Amino acid sequence: MVTGLVGVGDSVAYTNPTMGQGVAMALWAARWVARHAGAATDPASFAAEYHRWLARALRPWFDAQVAADRANAAQLADPARASAEPPTAAARERAALSACAHDDPTVMRARAKARHLVLTADQAYGTQEVRARLAHWLDAHPDFTPAYDGPARAEWESALGHASESAPEHTNSAARTPE
Ligand SMILES: Cc1cc2nc3c(=O)[nH]c(=O)nc-3n(C[C@H](O)[C@H](O)[C@H](O)COP(=O)(O)OP(=O)(O)OC[C@H]3O[C@@H](n4cnc5c(N)ncnc54)[C@H](O)[C@@H]3O)c2cc1C
Repeated sequence: MVTGLVGVGDSVAYTNPTMGQGVAMALWAARWVARHAGAATDPASFAAEYHRWLARALRPWFDAQVAADRANAAQLADPARASAEPPTAAARERAALSACAHDDPTVMRARAKARHLVLTADQAYGTQEVRARLAHWLDAHPDFTPAYDGPARAEWESALGHASESAPEHTNSAARTPE
């Protein structure tokens, strides 16, 4: 922790751009700084207080993103293995949330709150109401299993290799010298 220097935005917490939450996190931190800087009495206690707030307010979103990225990376590295292992009940519930949200407005509202940083995923999906709706959805879809519909990285790279070997050479005909 450095005193006398206040970082906001990506300089304090960088999350995966695909989640589209970096600007919200940057503005959230900037608002905290704007609201508290005027009343600060000394740089060290201000920095310490800001650090505690960051750990409480932004860290959960960062940690959730890291966990999601790790799970995605494992699946992309070896999807066949990932889908060959029988899913745990918790993994099946987690995976069902997205599909269930598209059928159930209560679960979709919870999803929106988690995606828009209003509540953490645990808070949004942990209510009795959402858990009951999810259980009901899983009862109605007994065959549901977490599925991954993409190729493994090695298959993807091999397909790209074949595609570039068989593709015709691209030339700019307008720039060709007439024969
Ligand atoms: C591809 C992509 C897509 C994204 N999509 C979304 C999205 O849909 N929704 C969302 O909320 N977030 C998104 N993000 C994240 C979001 O852009 C960042 O979280 C946000 O811009 C962080 O703001 P910032 O001010 O901290 O940093 P930045 O926006 O990166 O601003 C830092 C600025 O400092 C300048 N700079 C760097 N070094 C120096 C220097 N030495 N001197 C002077 N200036 C310097 C840079 O040029 C830059 O302009 C995306 C990020 C990427 C990369």
